[in-house]
Amino acid sequence: MDTASDVLGMTHSIPDTICALASGTPPAGIAVIRISGPGVQSWVVKHIPGGLPKAHNARIRKIFDTDHVIIDDALILFMPAGASYTGEDVLELHVHGGIAVIEHALQALTGFPGIRLADPGEFTRRAFEAGRLDLTQAEGIADLIEAETRAQKMQAIAQAEGVLGKLYDGWRADLLKSLSLLELSVDFPDESEVPVTVTVPVLEVLNSLQSALEAALQDGYLHQSVRDGFRIAIIGRPNVGKSTLLNRLAKREAAIVTDIPGTTRDIVEVRSQIGGHIVWFADTAGLRETADKVEAEGIRRAERAAKQADLRLYMYTNHKEAGLHPALQGDTLYIRNKADLGYKDELIRGELQLSARDGDGIVDLELRLQDWLEEKVKGRTAPVITRARHRKGIETALAHIIAAQEILQQDLGSELAAEDVRLAARALSGLVGEIGVEDILGAVFSEFCIGK
Ligand code: GDP
Repeated sequence: MDTASDVLGMTHSIPDTICALASGTPPAGIAVIRISGPGVQSWVVKHIPGGLPKAHNARIRKIFDTDHVIIDDALILFMPAGASYTGEDVLELHVHGGIAVIEHALQALTGFPGIRLADPGEFTRRAFEAGRLDLTQAEGIADLIEAETRAQKMQAIAQAEGVLGKLYDGWRADLLKSLSLLELSVDFPDESEVPVTVTVPVLEVLNSLQSALEAALQDGYLHQSVRDGFRIAIIGRPNVGKSTLLNRLAKREAAIVTDIPGTTRDIVEVRSQIGGHIVWFADTAGLRETADKVEAEGIRRAERAAKQADLRLYMYTNHKEAGLHPALQGDTLYIRNKADLGYKDELIRGELQLSARDGDGIVDLELRLQDWLEEKVKGRTAPVITRARHRKGIETALAHIIAAQEILQQDLGSELAAEDVRLAARALSGLVGEIGVEDILGAVFSEFCIGK
């Protein structure tokens, strides 16, 4: 099988050997230094008199620098080329996690010809280039390292195991089958029209692909939100207590609170966790008519944020202000603030009363948010789209699938239809990294930390 690097047309010169601290910020009990590349074994000969332990067997060995000064007593683990993460010889040094130990070890490594410090994500990039994982799996690994919540973690594991890649590959295989049928009919140009024997099965496949891709796109951005956080916008007229509520929810003074209406002009966002999910609370400019240009822009942004949010917290203090605003589309929670001042009129059904200033009712609000999140993720199935990159690729593929169907239905020729089918397949190939554009690969791998 062609490896990704073959497909990418990369040159096959001897790669550098790379090393990096793979574990977290020192000092710590143990630090893991990882080395990958063709130089591993010759480095060991010069620095570990005990030599390499058997593959995949951990052994304690003394490590020395070239002046025979001891670096540390370390646990050594060797994974030979073909049976390692990167596909190359990989060595792990589990040393004592002190800064001086780590520095000494890294000096002994980078001082050796052909060994250098790894770039961010370079170990995973090598695994990808060796064809050991596709691009969606590499992204899954990056997400797994970044995951803060159980939900993020579960999704990242599924992606790292190849759930997305397999699905995209399946779609692509169907497209390639259709393509070969279409190309077959191109090869017999005597027939002026695409034979029915080709059109019917190809249209059938394209039709079912169209349904599958459309269904995937109608996911309410659920898996993207699990990964990036659910967006919750606080909106309402000036001075109803939006900034005070944001600070309550953030448990810090993130937004400026004053009794001057129109203080919040841009969007203030705070990241938080509710019920095991990442959420972003956004405080927005108070919605009102204004002649102030800056404030008016703030209000436009507020309305946009309200529209794009997964949930709106619509705040008011009396029912006169509570009139429906056009920005209130989609899930909305009605919040009546300043309960401490006492209300004269009745409660509206479903509204939550609280005092952002005193904190009364905040726990109820958090519980409501938790319920909303649970409802939102209920019945969640395996991830299909977890990043904007995936959505874009699938949208492109879908557009070409629809175009190909139209061409066939109007009998405009199999060559034209084949071109669209080819472009659809290409969009999916880009998703798994089978055809790689350097800037896409660069963007994906630069997200990683050094050492992975
Ligand atoms: P925003 O313009 O909607 O962001 O409102 P702010 O959070 O800046 O608050 C406007 C004013 O209302 C400030 O003086 C706050 O101290 C006050 N305020 C906010 N929440 C409450 C509340 O629950 N009760 C009372 N009495 N005052 C509040």
